[in-house]
Amino acid sequence: MVETRLIDGKAAAAALRQRVAAAAADLAARYATVPSLAAVLVGEDPASEIYVRSKAKATREAGLAGIEHRLPAATSEAELLRLIDTLNADPAIDGILVQLPLPPQINPQRVIEALDPAKDVDGFHPRNVGRLWSGGEALVPCTPWGALLLLRQAMGALAGADAVVIGRSNIVGKPMAALLLAENCSVTLAHSKSRDLPALARRADILVAAVGRAELVRGTWIKPGAVVIDVGINRLPGEGGKSRLVGDVAFAEAQGIAGAITPVPGGVGPMTIACLLRNTLLAACRRRGLPAPEV
Ligand code: NAD
Repeated sequence: MVETRLIDGKAAAAALRQRVAAAAADLAARYATVPSLAAVLVGEDPASEIYVRSKAKATREAGLAGIEHRLPAATSEAELLRLIDTLNADPAIDGILVQLPLPPQINPQRVIEALDPAKDVDGFHPRNVGRLWSGGEALVPCTPWGALLLLRQAMGALAGADAVVIGRSNIVGKPMAALLLAENCSVTLAHSKSRDLPALARRADILVAAVGRAELVRGTWIKPGAVVIDVGINRLPGEGGKSRLVGDVAFAEAQGIAGAITPVPGGVGPMTIACLLRNTLLAACRRRGLPAPEV
C-alpha cells in the first residue's frame, strides 16, 4: 500500500499569482509598464461568464490591467474579427483572450488564427503551437503549463519517466504531450480510439487524464506510486439538488495506489488562471523588449 500525497493546486496557484504580482510591481516601478489583458466574451454561456469574471478578478488582484469586451450571441464572425484586428493594433494591449466556446456562426480556428501570436496568451495560435513543438519561444496553453508546474513540484526532474496523457485536444492533451516530451519523458498520447486504455495507463509513471468523462480512470488503471494529474471537470448530480464536481479519475480508488494526485476541485483548475496571468506578463515583456522575469 502506497501513501498517496495530495498535490495542492490551490496553494501552488496562490504562490504563482504572488510571483506574477511581484514581477508586475517591479515592471511598474522600473519601466512604468502595466501588462494588460483583453478578454472577449461572445454570448451568455453561464460557465464562460464565470470564467471571464474570475479571470478579470485575478488579473486586477495581480496588479495587471483587465479590459472586458462583451458581445451579443448574434455577433457575426466578421464583427468579431474586426474587434480582434483593433486589439491586435492597440499598443496598450499585451494579451488577448477569446473565451471558448464561440456561438455556432463563428469558426473558432479562424478567430484563433487572426490573433497576433505575440498577444495570444492562450497559446492556441499555430505559430505558438509550432514553436512549442519545435522548441522555440512560445506562449504555452495555460492548463497544461499549470499541470507541468504541479508535476515538477511533486517529482522534481521528470526525465526518463513514462508519461501517458489521455485526451488529445488542442487545448490540453496535445500541448501536455509536447511539454512532457520537452522534459525528456517517453510520452504516449491516448484517446477515444486507443486500444486497451487500462493497460496503457498502467505503464505510466506520470498519468494525465484530460478527457471529460467522470471517473473514467479507475484505481486498477494506476501503477503503484504513479503521479496522477486529473484535468477533468465533470458536474454530477449531488445531494439536495446541488451538483458536485468530479474529475476524470476515481479519486477514492486512487488512494493507496497513486504516489500523488491532484484533487478536483483544487488541483489543476486554479493553476489555469494563474498561468494566464503569467502568460500576460511574459507577453508584455517580450512585446516591449523588456527582460522577462522567471515566474
Ligand atoms: P475535449 O472534449 O476537447 O477532448 C477530450 C479528449 O478525450 C478527446 O481527445 C477524446 O479523444 C478523448 N476521449 C473522449 N472519450 C474518451 C474515452 N472514453 N477514452 C479515452 N479518451 C477519450 O476536452 P478538453 O477541452 O481537452 O477537456 C478535457 C477535460 O478537461 C474536460 O473535463 C474539461 O472540462 C477539463 N478542462 C479543465 C481545465 C482546467 O482548467 N482544469 C481546462 C480545460 C479543460
